[in-house]
Amino acid sequence: MAPKGKDSLKKKISALKPILVVTVVLLISIPAVWLTIIRMEGTAPTLEIELESPFIGASRTVTVSVDDAGSGVRKVWMSLLVEGHEVEILQRTFSSAGFFAGGKEKSVQVDATVAPQSLGLADGKGVIRVVAWDYSLRKWGKGNRVYLEKEIQIDTKAPSIDLISRVHNLYQGGSGVALYRLSEDCPVNGVSVGDHFYPGYAGQAKDPSVYMAFFALDYRQGKETRLAVTAEDYAGNRSTTGLVHHINARSFRKDTINLSDKFFNTKMPDFDRYFPESSGGNRLERFLKVNRELRLRDNEAICRVTAHTEKEILWEGPFLRLPRSANRARFADQRTYLYGGKVIDHQVHMGIDLASTARSPVPAANRGKVAFTGDRGIYGNTVILDHGFGLFTLYAHLSRIDVAEGQMVEKGEPIAQTGMTGLAGGDHLHYGTLIHQTCVNPVEWWDAAWIQNNISAKIDDAGSR
Ligand SMILES: [Zn+2]
Repeated sequence: MAPKGKDSLKKKISALKPILVVTVVLLISIPAVWLTIIRMEGTAPTLEIELESPFIGASRTVTVSVDDAGSGVRKVWMSLLVEGHEVEILQRTFSSAGFFAGGKEKSVQVDATVAPQSLGLADGKGVIRVVAWDYSLRKWGKGNRVYLEKEIQIDTKAPSIDLISRVHNLYQGGSGVALYRLSEDCPVNGVSVGDHFYPGYAGQAKDPSVYMAFFALDYRQGKETRLAVTAEDYAGNRSTTGLVHHINARSFRKDTINLSDKFFNTKMPDFDRYFPESSGGNRLERFLKVNRELRLRDNEAICRVTAHTEKEILWEGPFLRLPRSANRARFADQRTYLYGGKVIDHQVHMGIDLASTARSPVPAANRGKVAFTGDRGIYGNTVILDHGFGLFTLYAHLSRIDVAEGQMVEKGEPIAQTGMTGLAGGDHLHYGTLIHQTCVNPVEWWDAAWIQNNISAKIDDAGSR
């Protein structure tokens, strides 16, 4: 009986054999397949180097992003190689979530500060080299590797500024020009006048390293205002040199404007479209909204136009004044607005009002490019001419405009007719002059001797040097 039972057990075992084999094979092959496919994946991490500019000055931050969706990021390494000399900047290892899971981080971003001088690196051309590895078990467990490099230029020297124009005589509300030579290309350079900055451009003098900046003294800036030339190179190295100058104070006139009911009734409906929410309301409040809020909005819109300028002097000689006209209001008049004997507002008049016969032809004050034409709120129909290097003239309250934006106009060429559009009580030309975004006194630019002494002579000096 026993042998028979033994036989049947043997039979049973031999019947189980294939199942056992399959089980064992599965037990070995599933992790093997998993290891091969998942833990030995062959996709390298993706790598990105973020650098604001290839120029590195005193210090710059380099941001490296590494992504590895397969097995996670293991390590990032970075160096700087300049003129054959290599310095390690960064080495960071990220933790593992265990043998079977791979790296904890699938996506990392590391910042490294590159300060060439403290690394003992000289100025010159070089490369940033970055290597990243993942947690794959390939390459005998070292993981997949990715390499990337980026060309850089180390420049730790500040530009030098050589002033060409010597003494700058300025009046409050007046204009000036500075010429200087820079030792290298500087994307940011110009004249700072207190907290105002006036950019300079090359191209006027024969020497391409000579830059020119027109600047202004705001009518509110007094004798204590600091003037300097500033230049910043591509690597962010900055130099500043004081500008020799003499500031002359100027007193501005006080003016009173009496507002009549007739003025309110005829003028204010024109402005309802700017303040639809308060149209039909109290007319004094509406006037104040126009005189304050709309004035501010219009001045900002003008500044947006004068933020762009031609890098070429388009004008020549003194600027023209509206022929046969009388001065009705001057530059920087301190205006007090009266209504019914009461003071209701104060504003400053930033141009000169010139009155001739109604609808007089308005000549272009000098050669220039039409930078703006159209309705500009309190200024009414307006033309702005760009004379180059940030010098602009403005013509307001026009009844008719005869030029189009982008058009070149010659000195004396009729561009419009005077009128009383906008906040004008009678037919006149509001004539303004701007240096970039600062309103300046137009009178200086009507004066041939002033232009010769303060502008042309300085420009000629730079050309002949
Ligand atoms: Zn005016």
